[in-house]
Parts: sequence; structure tokens; C-alpha cells
Amino acid sequence: MPTLFTKIIQREIPADIVYEDDHVVAFRDLDPQAPVHILIVPRQEVDGLAELPETGDHLYILNAAKTIAESEGLTSGYRLVINQGVHGGQSVQHLHAHLLGGRKMNWPPG
Ligand code: AMP
Repeated sequence: MPTLFTKIIQREIPADIVYEDDHVVAFRDLDPQAPVHILIVPRQEVDGLAELPETGDHLYILNAAKTIAESEGLTSGYRLVINQGVHGGQSVQHLHAHLLGGRKMNWPPG
């Protein structure tokens, strides 16, 4: 059974895709928590950080984040977040990073 994000990657479910390459697809979050809120998703299905293989598409998330942040004009900074498991607040079981920007972030996060 493909994950929700695989369905987006395969264009079965619509999304506002802002970036893609051979390894990752990035699209705007449906419920944005900042003026810029983009999900960066490896094409390869991995449940989350706890199931991370040694190699794979997830290795390209950081470089995609840098590229997208530049194209979104986030010159004042941004935050990259991965929620893992119940306590981390993960709701979609397909590894993804949240790229948040366009406002000053708070620390510590909630
Ligand atoms: P997480 O809670 O870390 O697993 O993040 C899942 C994110 O996916 C949430 O921020 C949701 O708002 C977002 N989301 C859920 N469904 C969609 C969708 N169809 N298109 C874009 N973002 C979505």
C-alpha cells in the first residue's frame, strides 16, 4: 500500500510541488505553520528516522533543503525539522523533513 506521500510523488494526489530530483520531491504543506512550509520527501519509502537504512534517497534531503531555501529567498534563515514517532509528533509514516521559514522561529520548539 503506497503512502500518502508516495501517492503525491506519483501524481495520484494533487500537491503544490516546488522541487524534485532523482531522489526527493518537495511540496508545500497543506497546513502551513510558517509563511514558507515545505515538506521534503525521499522517493524511497522509509517509515521514519527509526527505520533509516544506511544509504538511500534520504541522504539527499539536506542538499535539497539548501537548494529550496535559496529558491524561496530565505536569506534570513530557516529551520529543518524531522518528527519521529508519537512523541516527535509524526503523523505520516513516510520519512520527510519540514522546511520552515519566512518568520523568526522560536526556541525551544514545543
Ligand atoms: P508530520 O506530522 O511530521 O508527520 O508531518 C506531516 C505533514 O504532512 C503535516 O504537516 C501535514 O499538514 C502534512 N500533510 C498531510 N497531508 C498533506 C497533503 N495531502 N499535502 C500536503 N501536506 C500534507
